[in-house]
Amino acid sequence: MQLLDGVLVSGHIKEQIKQEVKDWQANGGKKPHLAAILVGNNPASEAYVGSKVKHCDELGFDSTLLRFESDITEAYLIGEVERLNNDDTIDGILVQLPLPKHISGDAVINAISPGKDVDGFHPISLGKMLLGQPSFLPATPYGIMLMLEYYKINTAGMHCVIIGRSNIVGTPMTILMSRNTNPGNATVTMCHSHTKNLRDITLTADIIIAAIGRPKYVTADMVKPGAIIIDVGINRIDDATKKSGSRLVGDVDFDNVAPISSYITPVPKGVGLMTICGLMKNTLLAAKQAKELIG
Ligand code: NAD
Repeated sequence: MQLLDGVLVSGHIKEQIKQEVKDWQANGGKKPHLAAILVGNNPASEAYVGSKVKHCDELGFDSTLLRFESDITEAYLIGEVERLNNDDTIDGILVQLPLPKHISGDAVINAISPGKDVDGFHPISLGKMLLGQPSFLPATPYGIMLMLEYYKINTAGMHCVIIGRSNIVGTPMTILMSRNTNPGNATVTMCHSHTKNLRDITLTADIIIAAIGRPKYVTADMVKPGAIIIDVGINRIDDATKKSGSRLVGDVDFDNVAPISSYITPVPKGVGLMTICGLMKNTLLAAKQAKELIG
């Protein structure tokens, strides 16, 4: 078994991005600038946004964090997104999900200018991705593709089973893994909450991508020996041995699945770090495209 090491791969990609930003600035480009919107104070969202802002600093990007109370109206939030759309100093906009129930995530994402959609969630980005046209790829699936590429895993012809069909992970992942690219070119099966006989399907998988949101759901008896395991899940479970009383685990029962897998991502220090790489690469691309568009 080989660990697909998010620390190693993201470190490598971050060095590349840093160098690219330096070269870009040396040629007269301006620092990429990410605006992050956080509504309310969900602790997980706070941590994710905090990490994204910290990475901007580390990579030589500017960042602006806009925080709003959870009782903000949808119209006001959309107005703020539009203000950022029209602000030429901002290259990328990310709205940390989930939003409070009274605000439509779709309406807010749809309001982001497609040229600044660095999370890759806008219908235009997703539509272009579906058609194989250049676009911002959704950050987590993009990060997973970068991880497979780094380890030179040739997925052509493999049976890839994706568990989960969310708009931000499972569904775009099925598209990317089935495209005529490397990595890609896999035969993809998408499973979800209504899938019957999930275990029968996962046992035929050469690669399993789990994006379910259920701690340790994929167990060793569901995995074919030698399969590649990509664990997207981030779940907090109680752990009395930890000072905080809890710890993070993935959707895969890592301890029992790792020994029979060929490659596996850990949680934490796996896909989560790659998601940030996807976001940062998109933000740099947005900055470069802005220069082309506005001179
Ligand atoms: P989601 O809740 O939107 O979707 C979960 C999917 O799992 C659904 O499509 C559902 O059909 C499927 N599902 C639920 N129960 C199932 C079952 N018993 N059998 C088969 N399928 C089942 O979740 P999401 O936003 O895609 O996130 C999934 C997990 O990934 C969560 O733990 C989330 O925290 C994590 N996540 C991690 C990253 C990262 O960067 N590592 C990014 C996004 C999400």
